[in-house]
Formats: sequence, C-alpha cells, structure tokens
Amino acid sequence: MQPPPLKDDCFAMPPGVDWTPVDTALVQLRDRLHAVTPVETVALAAAGGRILAQDVSANRSSPPYANSAVDGYGLAHAGLPNGEICTLPLAQGRAAAGGPLEGKLPDGHAVRILTGARLPEAVDTVVLEEDCSVEADRIAFRSGLRQGANTRKAGEDVAKGAVVLARGRRLQPQDLALLASVGVAEVPVCRRLRVAVLSTGDEVLDIAAGPAKDAQIYDANRPMLLHVLQRWGYDAVDLGHVQDDPAMVEDAFRNGAAQADAIITSGGASAGDEDHVSAVLKAKGGLQNWRIAMKPGRPLALALWDGVPVFGLPGNPVAALVCTLIFARPALGVLAGAGWLAPQGFSVPAAFGKSKKAGRREYLRARIRDGRAEVYHSEGSGRISGLSWAEGLVELGDGAQDVGQGDLVTFYPYGAFGL
Ligand code: AMP
Ligand code: MG
Repeated sequence: MQPPPLKDDCFAMPPGVDWTPVDTALVQLRDRLHAVTPVETVALAAAGGRILAQDVSANRSSPPYANSAVDGYGLAHAGLPNGEICTLPLAQGRAAAGGPLEGKLPDGHAVRILTGARLPEAVDTVVLEEDCSVEADRIAFRSGLRQGANTRKAGEDVAKGAVVLARGRRLQPQDLALLASVGVAEVPVCRRLRVAVLSTGDEVLDIAAGPAKDAQIYDANRPMLLHVLQRWGYDAVDLGHVQDDPAMVEDAFRNGAAQADAIITSGGASAGDEDHVSAVLKAKGGLQNWRIAMKPGRPLALALWDGVPVFGLPGNPVAALVCTLIFARPALGVLAGAGWLAPQGFSVPAAFGKSKKAGRREYLRARIRDGRAEVYHSEGSGRISGLSWAEGLVELGDGAQDVGQGDLVTFYPYGAFGL
C-alpha cells in the first residue's frame, strides 16, 4: 500500500512572514508532512531500529504462567500450621524452570522449587531457601510469610491482548525483549526512509578526491550528514558533490528524487548570485525560502522535486548540523512514519554569561561539567571543532535575555536528537 503524495504547497509560508520564528516553522512542517513509506513485515531479529507501522499487542501473557521468583520451597499458604516456627514435610520431586512438576501438592507439604519454575497445582507461595533449615525430608522456617510471597502471577507484567508498543515507535533493544516475551515473532514496520545527501559549492572538494588546491575546502558536511542519517536508522544515499552549476545541481536532484524519499543539500541555499540550489529549486521545484529567526541557520530552502521533499541547508557545517537536528530530524521522523520527534531538554545552571537580543532563537554548542552548562568559546558558525567539543546544545529563547552564571538554561544533549 503506497501512501498519498505530499501536497504541492506543503512548504508554503503564510504571506507576509519575514523572519519566521522557529516554532512557526516547526508547526508548519509538522502539520503539512505525512508518512511516505509503505509497510512491510519483518522478523523480530531484523526489527531493531525499525519504526512500527501499527500498534502491536501481546499474543501471550507475560509471564505466561505463575512461577517462582526465587530458589526455595513451594507451599499452599492456607494450609500453614500456626506457631512461631512452621515445619512441613517435603513432597517427592522438584519443580524447575523448563521441568514442571505435574500433579497436585499434597496438603500440608512443601516442595523443592527453583527460579522460573511453573508453580505446581495448589502452590501459591514460596519460601526462600535461605530462610529455611532443611533436614532429611522436612523444612522449618519462621512464620509471617505473606500469601503469594516470592511468586510471579500469570500476566502480571503484560496481559494477553494488551497493546505493548504503539505505532511510530522506533524499536529499541529492550523493545525486542518485550515483543519476544509476549510471543510476537514478526512486526509490521515502515520501509526504511531513504534520504539522499548532496553537497554543493565550487570551493568544496570530496576528501577522497584530495589533495585540495588553494581556495578549496574539503567537504565536511556530507560525511557528517550521511552518518547522522544512518544513526537515525535511515538508508543514506550519497549523491556526492556538485559545482555551483545549475545543470549539475538539476541532474543531482533528478538522480536523488529517483532513489530517495527526501533530499538534503548543503550550501547554495541563500539568494546570492552563486546560490544555485535556491535558483534551481526556484525555477523547477517551487522553492520556498524560509528565513528562520535562528542562529546559527537562517536560510532554509524547502521544495518538492518530483514530489520528493528537498531540505536545502546552509553550507556552514555548524549551521548545517543545527538545522538538521532542529528541522530535518522531526520532519524526517514524520516522513518515516515515526511521527513528530520533539527533543527533550532539561534545565541546568549556566557556567557562562551572555546577553542576547530579541528576535531570534540561539543554539550554542555546549556540554555539562560539574552539573553546569559550559558553552564553546566561539560562536563562529565555521568553527567545526566546537561541534566535536560540545556534547549538546544550549537553547536560548526568541526574546532578549541576559544569562548570568548560575541562571537556568535549557540543555539538549546530542542524545536528545538521536545521536
Ligand atoms: P553557502 O551556504 O554556500 O553560502 O556556504 C556557506 C559557507 O559554508 C561557505 O564558507 C562555504 O565554503 C561553506 N561550505 C559550504 N559547503 C560546505 C561543505 N560541504 N563543507 C564545509 N563547508 C562548506
Ligand atoms: Mg556557496
């Protein structure tokens, strides 16, 4: 089953908007995009990192039968003798995990039972082996055992038929354990989103095609973006690098749209003379130039090329990564079937001071040391080393703000963006 195409005007900004606030841009992406991947079924062993296409419910209760939580002795609580010390004769046999004891426990007896063993008929309580003295064919222990002690009830974790994981969930290692425990052998998942990455710019050179001449720089964005996409569980398609040449840019878009569900470009996204990504998208892709009130970032070129969404990022690696984390991640999440992915940040005291003006949101390269957020010494958006120094981003809101040492600021670890 193929989902419907995206609407032509999905990236249209309301008229009159000049500098678009980050939240306005995010709401627009959230509301106008939808999942574009078809559904397929995969075996549990191959499902890690995949996105559930439907809610999944338990085929079986967990645990499937009442069993012992410890090594000890099983007994019927109602039949325990009165007195400070309980002494019980031991019944024949032993209940072990995978080696159930058939038949009913005789009244007034206890039976050897091991962790994970199904409770034999009439056993509802287990006394811990360390709490017993054992002699020949009987055990003795202090009274006060609670009914049901040291047992696990059938279905106490999950009842058969209950929804265990919801549609849109990207399956984590622990989810595979949960699904296996409730008897789910295969799951409906979204086909992996395919995302193509293109670098542009006359000065940019593929690191594998070096050495660079004077006036050339190595392509830093493409290896970074391809790996970000892999980390998010998508199929990353490498479209390579093209010069600032409209015909080459167009060819790359055609090639990308034929292979991928979305295209991410970096460089040439502004409205300058050599900004050919913008120019080509404007001529043939219904370009929407979003001027985002955000630092780093600003120009974001959005378009549909043959129905395939294009995210044109700025060329500066710092801006390219921040825009990818803030805009591309949730947008790709929607396209991939995972739904809108809002990062969860937390408040920490600042280990820095800064005064910022109103009218734009700022993201600072940051890390936590001794419970406080430090920021990188330079805000220059060409300073790639700051991205590696950092372990996340501090977000400063749209309004004017004077941050003093110890004031609370919002910190998003890279992990909040799925890295
Ligand atoms: P642009 O967005 O094309 O105006 O580029 C902004 C800055 O980013 C310029 O200094 C470019 O040289 C640089 N830049 C563009 N693409 C890349 C890239 N793939 N890797 C590293 N730097 C880049
Ligand atoms: Mg350029």
